[in-house]
Amino acid sequence: MLNIGCHLSNSKGYMNMCREAASIGANTFQFFTRNPRGGAAKDIDPADAAEARQFMADNGFVKILAHAPYTLNPCAARPEVREFTENTMADDLRRMEFTPGNMYNFHPGSHVEQGIDAGIELITGMLNRILRPEQSTTVLLETMSGKGSEVGSRFEELRRIIDGCELSDKLGVCLDTCHVFDGGYDIVGDLDGVLAEFDRVIGLERLRAIHINDTKNPFGSHKDRHEKIGEGYIGVDAFCRIVNHPALKGLPFFLETPNELDGYGREIALLRSLCK
Ligand code: FE
Ligand code: FE
Ligand code: ZN
Repeated sequence: MLNIGCHLSNSKGYMNMCREAASIGANTFQFFTRNPRGGAAKDIDPADAAEARQFMADNGFVKILAHAPYTLNPCAARPEVREFTENTMADDLRRMEFTPGNMYNFHPGSHVEQGIDAGIELITGMLNRILRPEQSTTVLLETMSGKGSEVGSRFEELRRIIDGCELSDKLGVCLDTCHVFDGGYDIVGDLDGVLAEFDRVIGLERLRAIHINDTKNPFGSHKDRHEKIGEGYIGVDAFCRIVNHPALKGLPFFLETPNELDGYGREIALLRSLCK
């Protein structure tokens, strides 16, 4: 069975997300840990988290994925932005322990003219300060489209970040289909080749989640604008190969397409129908 969910609003807590996910045939979901623009997080209700853990166990849910706010930038040029990022992510990782054993995804950031080497050093420095041996959460680096000075659009860059971390067993990768296609990895024409390259450079055992999005822009555009499944440049045939690829079997897939709940439900049904 395909493990799939979509991005949901966490404004009404974990149980509400569980019910919404179940109502559209999902068995996982993604959510922002706080307002996507950053800022203070609402307190987690331990009873709500406990009820959601039980619900997920009873209903065949697989790991859920928290997404860090977009405004964070671990390799920003301005120290105050880096400090805000580090404090926010450390706080998010503490909060993740209310729902242990799940995953936390973040964008490696934009180095803004400092250069890729300096960017990678800042990212690994931050991870080495916030990752803890006792945490149960796996932190995922997201593959990026290479817009502006984004770090993480090449598999080699993600590998260097992982290699720079002492607690690298806490790290994995989330592959975003829109981002890698925009970034110049041809998952439409050569999915096998891209996954072989991922395996050679990073190792497929690091691949823990897929963001399954179509794209509004052609191959290699470095744009990062998501489209509904089948309505963009990736297309249904390629998604059929993606959801059926043996290297991706069992991974959780998360939709981040421009949709409301009912539209996500239709995309989940479509993707499930493509599974052989
Ligand atoms: Fe993302
Ligand atoms: Fe994504
Ligand atoms: Zn994106």
